[in-house]
Amino acid sequence: MPAVLRVALPVPLPTLFDYLPASAGRADVGSRVLVPFGKGKAVGVVVEADVESAVGNARLKRVLKVLDDGPLLDAELMATLARAADYWLGAPGEAYANALPLALREDRPLPDLREEAWALTAAGQSALDAGSRRGGSRALLEALARGPVTAALLHELLPGWRDAARRLDEAGLIERTEISGAAPAPTSTPPELMPEQRQAVDTIAESLGQFQSFLLDGVTGSGKTEVYLALIEQVVAQGKQALLLVPEIGLAPQTVRRVRDRLGVAVEVLHSNLAEGDRARAWLRARSGEAKVILGTRSAVFTPLPHAGLIVVDEEHDGAYKQQEGFRYHARDLALLRARALDVPVVLGSATPSLESLANVQAGRYHALHLRARPGAIRAPQVRIVDMRAQRLEHGLSPALLAAVADTVARGEQALVFRNRRGYAPVLLCHACGWHAECPRCEHPMTLHAGRRQLICHHCDYTARLPAQCPACAAPDLKPQGQGTERLEEALAAQFPDVPVLRIDRETTRRRDAFEQLLESLHEDRPAILVGTQMLAKGHDLPNLTLVAIVGVDEGLHSVDFRASERLSQLVVQVAGRAGRARKPGRVLLQTHHPDHPLLRQLLAQGYAAAAATLLEERRSVQLPPYGHQVLLRAEAHQREHVDAFLADAAGALAGAPLQLAGPMPAPMPLRAGRHRGQLLIEAETRSALHTALRPWYRMLSTLPTARRVRWSLDVDPIDLY
Ligand code: ADP
Ligand code: ZN
Ligand code: ZN
Repeated sequence: MPAVLRVALPVPLPTLFDYLPASAGRADVGSRVLVPFGKGKAVGVVVEADVESAVGNARLKRVLKVLDDGPLLDAELMATLARAADYWLGAPGEAYANALPLALREDRPLPDLREEAWALTAAGQSALDAGSRRGGSRALLEALARGPVTAALLHELLPGWRDAARRLDEAGLIERTEISGAAPAPTSTPPELMPEQRQAVDTIAESLGQFQSFLLDGVTGSGKTEVYLALIEQVVAQGKQALLLVPEIGLAPQTVRRVRDRLGVAVEVLHSNLAEGDRARAWLRARSGEAKVILGTRSAVFTPLPHAGLIVVDEEHDGAYKQQEGFRYHARDLALLRARALDVPVVLGSATPSLESLANVQAGRYHALHLRARPGAIRAPQVRIVDMRAQRLEHGLSPALLAAVADTVARGEQALVFRNRRGYAPVLLCHACGWHAECPRCEHPMTLHAGRRQLICHHCDYTARLPAQCPACAAPDLKPQGQGTERLEEALAAQFPDVPVLRIDRETTRRRDAFEQLLESLHEDRPAILVGTQMLAKGHDLPNLTLVAIVGVDEGLHSVDFRASERLSQLVVQVAGRAGRARKPGRVLLQTHHPDHPLLRQLLAQGYAAAAATLLEERRSVQLPPYGHQVLLRAEAHQREHVDAFLADAAGALAGAPLQLAGPMPAPMPLRAGRHRGQLLIEAETRSALHTALRPWYRMLSTLPTARRVRWSLDVDPIDLY
């Protein structure tokens, strides 16, 4: 019987597919193939070659075309992806699809790695030496002084460079060429490391060349990034590659610049906002070993690293590392799998480590390194609670808070008012009859966006015009309840007419680069007030920011989600860390109706580590993660009965297994975008008990007749239960 190829196809099914080899061309494990699938064709990845098929060969179809001469995904990635699909109970085909940039999931030739670049001509070199040009032309000549630079990099280094390029090209001073990747010369020199930084670097460096997990626990501004850079320098000097993951690139342009300025090697940046061709090129340059440093968001964890030396996960506690649809992997945990497979150290950095990572330190699996000093800063900011009870509030802002903002701006400094809710008000209410605006598809209050004169559902994006009067009783006075960033912006602008008030949230930063441009419009030496959501919790140094006022954290104290208190603590500490990053001391105000809440008290009196230790003990006592393990089965359908029937079958199939089941039950949001939602939470004390029972169950679920009438998904180690 001739051997067959086992292929992973990008479909949400727990299976691989067998095909007869193509009539021409040999397909290796890790190569892409074009195969007939259903009524059309699909591009898949060969997972096994030369296997015997369980199905009779007569019924098998033949591979149409082999797309790669050799494996596109190397043995390590193939093995790690197989383990990942097994761990996250994901469709193997979706795991492989996640690993490939979109442009490589199609039947097209690999993109050309060469791209547009510009170089000095001999005349250009003379002009540069003679110093005969000024302004933008001079800057461009200087940028090209050490060799050709790609257009992409010029966009970054010299926005608006095209005009100068046209002039210099016409004058014969520069010429267009094509190169593959570019390594600009380093322009910054490393600072002398502080003793704690030095020790962290030395300890981690001892592990280069072998697997070891480190938790780099250092307050904001303590110099974690300098530790990464020092290590990456060593790795690159050994001719190896480093992967640096960050939660959101839009918030990290300063980090990108710092890495480029420091290292003088080819740095590829990988994130979802890149054009598909650029993303594929960056991925392929990593695969060829040409890219020495890869800096990227979640999906960059799948970058090939043939000469791997180090993996760093910055802000490891950040929820953005968890993919919330399709293949629901966690990039931090996948980074650990990869580091182990590649036999390199992995460094998880955070000012507010996740309880999972702290538990791993306790269990001796991670080596913890601490940075307690803040180089350059005078001292850690002082944090004070503002008791809101029995206060006259001005659009939700207490007199104490307004007074603090007033004297901050009076001193010429900047204040940040943090509120994690965008829009004008979360509820629009009729005082005459009690009607409130509700999303018809979610049965949840809609948020009032006053500037756009719209009501928007933050759960499904359903949008409605702002009614002029109450739709129920025709009363004219509809009242916004509560405050979002838009309302705070308005209130602060009214209170402080002479100071610029800048709102930073998803609405004001929709355009690419808008976030950075907004922040750059702030003059370092001028007073200003920033209002914003958690986008402001990270990124961009604001040296003149000396007051951080946190409003509206109380929701986090009463949430049903057991992770809410961990998230609240992280957010408060991260936002507070924005104050006083430079020479000036900072202040933090936390406005709450619950000044005596034990979590807030401990957080402020003893800091994050102590609060996290308490939270961990609570988790341990009730066997919640990281001490117990969870898998969540979600299902949704237009008809509730379909959800109920599927979940009942799914739960029934687990009868007798050594697991705890919660549900089937309605999801915390039982209706969203017109679909009824339900869930089944499965818990066990050990991971192996969970996986042993759930592996065959997962494969069985898609064969259930009731599964056809619902959308369902499995979430291993869910980070929220919605
Ligand atoms: P983190 O990543 O922990 O927030 P950074 O590495 O960004 O901290 O450092 C915070 C600030 O302190 C930066 O401006 C950085 O340049 C500076 N810095 C870090 N380490 C040192 C050092 N050893 N000496 C002087 N300045 C430092
Ligand atoms: Zn009414
Ligand atoms: Zn909705």
